[in-house]
Amino acid sequence: MKIALDGPSGAGKSTVAKALAKELGIIYVDTGALYRTIGLYVKRKGLDKSDTEGVISSLPEISLNMEFKDGEQVITLNGERVGDNIRTGEIAMYASAVSAIPQVRAFLLNTQRDIAAKNSVVMDGRDIGTVILPDAEVKVFMVASPEARARRRFLELSAKGENCTFESVLADIIERDKNDSTRKTAPCVPASDAVIFDNSDYDVEGSVKKVIEIIKSKVSI
Ligand code: C5P
Repeated sequence: MKIALDGPSGAGKSTVAKALAKELGIIYVDTGALYRTIGLYVKRKGLDKSDTEGVISSLPEISLNMEFKDGEQVITLNGERVGDNIRTGEIAMYASAVSAIPQVRAFLLNTQRDIAAKNSVVMDGRDIGTVILPDAEVKVFMVASPEARARRRFLELSAKGENCTFESVLADIIERDKNDSTRKTAPCVPASDAVIFDNSDYDVEGSVKKVIEIIKSKVSI
């Protein structure tokens, strides 16, 4: 079974996807982590995030591997586990910039498709239902207001000790939304057969319940 869970940053996709994976006994694939890993490499190399040519010419230097150990996604970048190094606000902005480059998306395509070819997955991203797994049995596009998303992301980053304000997180979310939805290649838009779910007024438990209802309306689980 393939479940595509797309939507903008902070819509709660990863929280819902993790809960679904546990409930259904399938693996959760966080595709944003792949773009973040490219972003980490680009930042460490000292490139400007808008240096498209520099990013493209760096791709052959990158060996990226994604595996699942006890259900947990483990990404290695040239042999090093990336871990939480990719979970900062700064790396999110690098990821957003590099993800607009078609060559970067092509570079990561097979890693995503291969994992879904070998396993039942719930995959979260921006273009899973439209590009990566157009044949997914269930496609959900999760949205929430920018303020609701910024509030969640702010709490998450503050809990990790990152120095940020609600306003700066909101500004980053608005900028990433603009980058992600207006780029030419694989913009963050719902597939024509996706169910759109606005979870601004739902808590985590309510969102998971709702997505399970959507899944049940499409396939028998
Ligand atoms: O989901 P996450 O916030 O980790 O994603 C980081 C960035 O990677 C997003 O802002 C988006 O630009 C990009 N991304 C993408 N396609 C995906 C997943 C993430 O373009 N499937």
